[in-house]
Amino acid sequence: MNDLPMNASKRRFIAGAVCPACSAMDKIQMWDEDAVPHRECVACGYADTLDERGNSVPRELATRVNVSALKPKAADPKVQAVQFFPNPKLKKPPQ
Ligand SMILES: [Zn+2]
Repeated sequence: MNDLPMNASKRRFIAGAVCPACSAMDKIQMWDEDAVPHRECVACGYADTLDERGNSVPRELATRVNVSALKPKAADPKVQAVQFFPNPKLKKPPQ
C-alpha cells in the first residue's frame, strides 16, 4: 500500500541535459516521486526513471512511442539481382 499523498516534488529543468531519445538539450524535466528520480523530455515525451544506481529505466510506453518515432529508416530490402537462365534441359523438344 502506498499511503503517501500525490505530492510529487516540483519539476525542474536540468540545464545542459540532453534527451537520450531526441537529443534535445534543456528539455529534460526532473522530479522525484517517492524518492525516485523521474525524468521526462518535454520535446518528445521520452520519460524514464533512475534506479538506485542511477541507471536509466525507460518507461515502456513512452519508449515505445519514441522508438517508433526515432526508428532508423527501415533497411531497404535489397532485391537480389538474380539472373535467370532458363534451363535448357527443361525445354520440350519441338514436336
Ligand atoms: Zn526528447
